[in-house]
Amino acid sequence: MNNPTVWLNGELIALADAKISVLDRGFLFGDGIYEVVPVYHGKPFRLAQHLDRLERSLAEIRIANPYTRAEWEALFARLSATCAADPHSVYVQVTRGVAPRQHTFPKDITPTVFGIATPLTLPSREKVEQGVGAVTHEDRRWLNCHIKSTSLLGNVLMAQYAADHEVQETIQFRDGLLTEASSSNVWVIKHGAMAAPQRDNRILEGIRYGALESFAQECGIAFEERAVSEAEVRDADELLITSATKEVLAVVTLDGKPVGDGKPGPVFRALYAAYQRAKEAL
Ligand code: PMP
Repeated sequence: MNNPTVWLNGELIALADAKISVLDRGFLFGDGIYEVVPVYHGKPFRLAQHLDRLERSLAEIRIANPYTRAEWEALFARLSATCAADPHSVYVQVTRGVAPRQHTFPKDITPTVFGIATPLTLPSREKVEQGVGAVTHEDRRWLNCHIKSTSLLGNVLMAQYAADHEVQETIQFRDGLLTEASSSNVWVIKHGAMAAPQRDNRILEGIRYGALESFAQECGIAFEERAVSEAEVRDADELLITSATKEVLAVVTLDGKPVGDGKPGPVFRALYAAYQRAKEAL
């Protein structure tokens, strides 16, 4: 892992040799998008859904997709083959490219494509079994949260806010409604039924959103996609967070107060088990 092989603009090269221009718009403006795909036993988890989201993000910010679907699949496979660790994750980023600095889109610009596979450290056994803490904050991000943009300053500040409070995540509210955490989707359980905010511009639709929806169905857990109030979050029996690297975790303290009985609950256990089965079945 000292000098891994990475993808940059059409070739696999050593990380130490991978250089981009200071005029890259990803560097100057955060003008780009990215994806993170977890890979278990060499098999990507929900790659098709990740590629769909990549295409949607590119279209939203009007970068012409540099690769065909087959080329993206081949690139993910080639990057995956560079990393012996199991599990690992494959990160890819597309920026608008390099041009003299101006805000508007330059003409005839070639997107920069970067990719790297890195070992994936899953949450510790302790976090899975005991749950994690979260704090809350007003959601001050922009209103295009559905785009998986590399402009992540709002998320970075909220991740650090959680770190400053020595908890896993910051759960955000906008206008009294739950949105999402700094890098996770959030799920609220009351009386055995689960709810999560609508998949609109206020949240990033995690690939685990659709996954958890289908695991809930498989486990006979009622699920509703709807507006969730801050009061419901604070009064939940169970709170869950999901992301590619966290899979699914139970939030057992919120702003220092216990969630439900302060332990991971039955809905968490059922969905966590379903997640592990889906990985094994890849
Ligand atoms: N919301 C935000 C803001 C995120 O950064 C992430 C993780 N990338 C998620 C939700 C969860 O998405 P996924 O399940 O695809 O990892």
